[in-house]
Amino acid sequence: MNVLEFQDISVIYQNGKTAVHNVSFTVPEHSIVAVVGESGSGKSTLIRAAMGLLSTGGSVSQGRILFEGENLLGFSKEQIRSIRGSEMAMIFQDAGDYLNPRRKIGPQYIETIRCHIQVSKKEAGQIALDMLSRLKLADPERIMRSYPFQLSGGMRQRAAIAMAMSMHPKLLLADEPTSALDVTVQAQVVQEMLKLREDMGTAIVIVTHNMGVASRMADYIAVMKNGYLREFGARDQVINAP
Ligand code: ADP
Ligand code: ADP
Repeated sequence: MNVLEFQDISVIYQNGKTAVHNVSFTVPEHSIVAVVGESGSGKSTLIRAAMGLLSTGGSVSQGRILFEGENLLGFSKEQIRSIRGSEMAMIFQDAGDYLNPRRKIGPQYIETIRCHIQVSKKEAGQIALDMLSRLKLADPERIMRSYPFQLSGGMRQRAAIAMAMSMHPKLLLADEPTSALDVTVQAQVVQEMLKLREDMGTAIVIVTHNMGVASRMADYIAVMKNGYLREFGARDQVINAP
């Protein structure tokens, strides 16, 4: 069973630029797929298409994107939003900037957890503290009491990553989630994503320009070049390709 399947997807922007050409690949259940390639090769465009979040002027001009066998492109905005709130979570490079600026981390985080798992507020608070400290955030109690603006960019980013992971989604779509973080923190995030897959069976699609991250995490690697899928295959097969 595939969680996600790109079938002959092309994406065009209003200015006439075709950013993705006829891309097909699948994300099997519980698997991790890294999408790699140079800047501008279409990685973000591809992953945003799957989330129904193409930037203004972008549209899928052909193909289908199946989520658990159903074509996401035929979904209404409501349906997409409902899946995004439950089965699909995403993390952007600047995810920390999308936290609610008017609410402290703790209440936002606890509410996010309780939307997805049936636990008491107290238990949710414990889960949150635990995840924050696993992402190497010192003094997680203080983080929970802080507004986003009271934290550094890197701390906000990790708080946002923690929240997305606590949703225990079936599919996690991550667009350069760690590229703005320190190397040691990056490694920790990678480890926690692997643990999420291990514990919850979450399938992960991660866009990264970091081949180290890709080779440590991925079961499969998709290589994008100039909007085309140049290669897709098992990690070792792609890494060892001539
Ligand atoms: P990557 O994630 O691999 O860096 P992108 O998907 O961001 O690549 O971009 C792919 C191509 O599409 C690039 O040439 C980029 O300039 C172009 N592009 C991205 N967003 C837009 C947009 N909103 N309008 C026009 N062109 C865009
Ligand atoms: P990234 O690849 O890390 O997402 P970019 O700098 O390529 O960052 O893009 C930043 C924003 O600008 C994105 O929303 C992208 O869709 C948009 N963008 C990128 N290239 C173009 C372009 N040629 N024309 C218009 N918008 C673009």
